[in-house]
Amino acid sequence: MSLALTVLGTATPHPQPDRACSGYLLAAGDARVWMDAGPGSLANLQRHTRLETLDAIWISHLHVDHSADLLAAFYALAHGGLPAAAPIPVYAPAGLARRIGGFLDRPDMAERLAPHLALHDLYDGHSVTVGGLGLRASAVQHDVEAYGLRAEHDGSVLAFSGDTGPCPALDELAADADLLLCEAESDRWDATLPQGHHTPEDTGALAARARVRQLVVTHVGPTLTPEGATARAAAVFGGRTDCAREGQTYVLG
Ligand SMILES: [Zn+2]
Repeated sequence: MSLALTVLGTATPHPQPDRACSGYLLAAGDARVWMDAGPGSLANLQRHTRLETLDAIWISHLHVDHSADLLAAFYALAHGGLPAAAPIPVYAPAGLARRIGGFLDRPDMAERLAPHLALHDLYDGHSVTVGGLGLRASAVQHDVEAYGLRAEHDGSVLAFSGDTGPCPALDELAADADLLLCEAESDRWDATLPQGHHTPEDTGALAARARVRQLVVTHVGPTLTPEGATARAAAVFGGRTDCAREGQTYVLG
């Protein structure tokens, strides 16, 4: 069985009409994993699968544009008539229950979440298999704790940058991937500052170094256009390069 990536959202830092923030659906065999839960991505997720039947949720980092729909997912499961048969595993950086509890002003959030979402803290090298889909996280270079992902199923490999500047950990995650889903948030970067995002040229250079078969450019910031950033990345990569679009599905293998 193949590994499929469906784009649920690409925008940053805020959702726009017909453009949700960071969110993707990974499907392999019977396994369904929601990868990043940016605002608007839960609505799009439901075009493709049911929230309450997900096998896992995987979150790259806890910035709003990647995680805020977890609040909406909790409300759906707890109050929306969408009860999960068992708590859905959530793999995310530490502190999620405290953050959701802070928003809802509930100190007992861990107990309230427990029937619906089973929280597991990510760490560098975290690895889990969800229904035959291998998920391996590596710490990447952002201004908060953040992870990239290498997903493998039946010989097919998908690599996801999350939000990060160029870093050796991402090169390693992306090596020889069938598909690299990589951010290109920044038009340029001040060389005196620690680099927390990719420019389109960084994205294209990574795809070339890692010898990926296909590059999909996503998470393009407000000073760029998705089409313009994709063209700049493609010029450096020289291989097949797509602009991520909501609703699009890529089947690997
Ligand atoms: Zn972001």
